[in-house]
Amino acid sequence: MINCQRMLNTFMQYVKIDSETKNEKAIGERIIQDLKELGYDAYTDEAGKKLNSNGNNIYCFIPGTNSSETMLFSAHMDTVTPGIGIEPYIDGEYIKSKGDTILGGDDKAGVVAILEALRTIKENNLPHRPIEIVFSICEEGGVNGVKEVEFSRLQAKKGIVLDSGGGPNHIITEAPGQTRIFASVIGKASHAGASPESGVSAILVAAEALNNMKLLRIDSETTANIGTFNAVGPTNIVSPLAEIVAEARSRSVEKLNKQTEHMIDCLKKACEKHGANLQYHIENCYYSYELDPEDEHIKAISDVCEGLGLEVVKLPSGGGSDANIYNSNGIRAVNIGAGMEKAHTTDERLNIEEFTNATKVVLKLMTM
Ligand SMILES: [Zn+2]
Repeated sequence: MINCQRMLNTFMQYVKIDSETKNEKAIGERIIQDLKELGYDAYTDEAGKKLNSNGNNIYCFIPGTNSSETMLFSAHMDTVTPGIGIEPYIDGEYIKSKGDTILGGDDKAGVVAILEALRTIKENNLPHRPIEIVFSICEEGGVNGVKEVEFSRLQAKKGIVLDSGGGPNHIITEAPGQTRIFASVIGKASHAGASPESGVSAILVAAEALNNMKLLRIDSETTANIGTFNAVGPTNIVSPLAEIVAEARSRSVEKLNKQTEHMIDCLKKACEKHGANLQYHIENCYYSYELDPEDEHIKAISDVCEGLGLEVVKLPSGGGSDANIYNSNGIRAVNIGAGMEKAHTTDERLNIEEFTNATKVVLKLMTM
């Protein structure tokens, strides 16, 4: 019943609208215009101001024509870099991008799946439940947009986030929490030729701390990584400052805290040992969530997938998404696949069949 050609055309147009994180204005305007053409009013909040973005979260509330309970459908509008001047093309079963950019199927596929389901409902005058839609900004780099969502305006207690790899039958029932560490190791400058012994090299102290850290894969549900190590200076001065930005993730809150403490501890010890100072702060980006695989919401999604002949795979995710924030605000949101593959790389591609299936699942859930 969905119009695949229309869905693909919309997708191609949407990914051509540049929308790297903090530049969601243009895609947001296009989405609002498309909703308006469908007869739905959308409104925005002021999230952009707080996040230094030119876009805002978009909301659209559609009253139900049946008595089913309200459901939230959500996807994010921003993309990672390099996402400027994307040229999509169809290559067999996939949509890919020409040149050296990502495709932006993460998460335009989710956005377009929701819109195509709405168009299909309108076109066929299908009975549907009360539908709440949120298209968020600034998901990449810390799910910040969704944190500014006006939760008091949402009625839904159940939700679907379309922001994962594979088809809609790939259901993310657990996702990790994340902390981020911003640390500055403050050494002591000194002339590197005349009196190196009276300096404290921030670079060496920080390097020692990092060398003592357990990083990357910690265990099956915990990871940690250094994203930034910044210490720039002339060679004739013992380095006075090294800045580090690191993250830890875990599906266990306890392990997350333990790993975060361990990383801070390594920094503290190295600084103490060499007489450097440490300044740091820890940002709790989002909390983990874990949904009971037997939960009725997950069961309903699974039934819909199975009804389409898709084998359900319930799996934990290594990454957080807007679903983490919905769950910590009382909405049982489940992240499902929208057909994207190799997201966050220039090899990113969209599996057309899985994308189509995601739209079918959204349509079915809306009209149940
Ligand atoms: Zn995404």
